[in-house]
Amino acid sequence: EIRVRFAPSPTGYLHIGGVRTALYNYLFAKKNNGKFILRIEDTDQNRYVEDAEKYIVESLKWCGLELDESPEKGGPFAPYKQSERKHIYKKYIDKILTTNYAYLAFDTPEELEKLRKDYEEQGKVFSYNHEVRNQLNNSLTLSSEEVQKKLNEGVPYVIRFKISPHRTLVLKDSIRGNFTVDTSTLDDKVLVKTDGMPTYHFANIVDDHIMEITHVIRGEEWLPSLALHVLLYEALGWKSPEFAHLPLLLKPEGKGKLSKRDGDKYGFPVFPLAWKNKKEGTSSIGYREEGYLPEAFINMLALLGWSPSDDKEIVSLNEMIHEFDLEKVHKSGARFNPEKAKWFNHEYIIKSKAYELLPEFQKILEEKGIKTENTKDVRIIELLKERVNFVKEIWEVGSFFWVAPSNYHEKSFKKVVKEDTKALLSQLITNLESVSFTEKELHAYIQEYVEKSGLGFGKVMQPLRLALVGDLKGPDIPVIMEILGKKESLKRLKNLEL
Ligand code: GLU
Repeated sequence: EIRVRFAPSPTGYLHIGGVRTALYNYLFAKKNNGKFILRIEDTDQNRYVEDAEKYIVESLKWCGLELDESPEKGGPFAPYKQSERKHIYKKYIDKILTTNYAYLAFDTPEELEKLRKDYEEQGKVFSYNHEVRNQLNNSLTLSSEEVQKKLNEGVPYVIRFKISPHRTLVLKDSIRGNFTVDTSTLDDKVLVKTDGMPTYHFANIVDDHIMEITHVIRGEEWLPSLALHVLLYEALGWKSPEFAHLPLLLKPEGKGKLSKRDGDKYGFPVFPLAWKNKKEGTSSIGYREEGYLPEAFINMLALLGWSPSDDKEIVSLNEMIHEFDLEKVHKSGARFNPEKAKWFNHEYIIKSKAYELLPEFQKILEEKGIKTENTKDVRIIELLKERVNFVKEIWEVGSFFWVAPSNYHEKSFKKVVKEDTKALLSQLITNLESVSFTEKELHAYIQEYVEKSGLGFGKVMQPLRLALVGDLKGPDIPVIMEILGKKESLKRLKNLEL
C-alpha cells in the first residue's frame, strides 16, 4: 500500500509552498489508492507557534484535501504529533546507540562557538565532522570511564551521527533522477538534543519507518538532508522510502524563493487563510478571505510545478488525481504569478452554478442591509458572473439592481444626453406604460421603436442605459428592465428626464 505524509512543523503559518507539498502528497496518494497522512513535527518547542497546528488543519480542510490519518482523526500509528511520541523515540535512541553510528558529544555550546570563531578567523568554516571529531569532547575520544563519570555527574550531552567519510553515495530522487554525494562533505548531525528530545532528522526517519511511509514527497529545501536520511535508514537496518523533492516556488519576478513576507510586499496572499498573531501583533491576508474559491486556489497551486498531459490549465481535483505523476513534476522552480491566480478564480466563477455562489453573495447583500430574494439574486449572479473575478465584484458591477443611480457618470452623461434626449425619454416612458415588462416583449418593443423612429440603435439604448444603470455598462437593457420591474424602471427614466 502506498502511504505518504505531510509533515509540517508548527513553527509558523503554512504558506502556499506548504499547501502545494500537501496537495502533491494528496494527489499521489489518491492516484495510487493509498493513504494521505498528517504528522505534526513539533519537536522544536522553542519555535512552537500557538495556533499554527490548528491553522494547518483548517487550511487543508478548506482546500478539500481530506486526511486518512491525523492527530484529529487518529489512525493505526497514533499519536500523530511528535511531541506525544517521546516514549517511542526512546527505544530507537537506545537502538542507534548500540550501533557504531552514534556517539555522545559533551562539547558545550561555548566551546563550539569558540571553535567556530577560531575557524572563521582563519577563513574557514567549522563543521563537526570526521576531520575534527577525534579532537573533541566525545565518547570517541574519551575513555569509557571518563564517559561514565560525566554521565554520573549529569553533564549534558547530545547524540551525534557518525558519518563514515570517503564514500560515494548514489541518491535517487523520483523527480531529479540519480545524483551522488561524497560522504566526506557531510557533518555529524545531532540526533538527540541535551533535553533527550530527538531532532527533526531522527524523529522524521523513525516516524516514517514506523508509520510505513512508502514515499517522501517534500520541498527542495530538504534535498541537502537526503544523504543523511539515507545513511540513517542504513544505520538502523531499515529500507528507505522513495524520495521526491518538489521544486521551489519563486517570486513573481522569477528570482529568489517566494517568502512568507512577500504577500505584504506584493499585495497578494501567500497564505491559504488570513491569520492574526496576537502575541506578535502581526497578521496577513489569505486566499479564502480575499474571495478565492478553494477549487480555483488548488488548481492554481497544482500547476506551479506540474502540468497535465495536454497542458490544459483548468483541471478539477479528480482530473488532477487521475493525471498526477511524480515523474511529470518539473525540476526547475515555479514562478508564482498572482495575476494568474485571479484568472483562475474568474474561470471557476464562470464554471460555478449561480446558486453555488448565492450564499456568499447574499452575505454581501445582507451586510449592505439589502433584502435577499433567491430567484432575483440567482438571476443577477447568472447575468454578471462572467464579468467578475470574485463574488464580491458582482456587487460592484451590479449594485444598480438594488440602488438607483444617484448621479450619472459624467463623461457618459455628456456623451449621451443631448437636446432631444428629453423628448425621446418622455415618449418612451409613455409608450412603455403599456408594454409588459418581460425581456422578450421589451426587446421586441425597443427593436420596433428603433426601426420606426429611424433613430440609431445607440441613440435609443444609451439614454436608457444611463438612466437605469448610471453608466453605459451592464447587461442587456431588456433584462435589466425586467428585473427592475416596470415601476422602478420608469421611475429611473423619469429621473434622467428631469
Ligand atoms: N517538518 C519538516 C518540515 O517542516 C518536514 C520535512 C519532511 O517532509 O521531511 O518541512
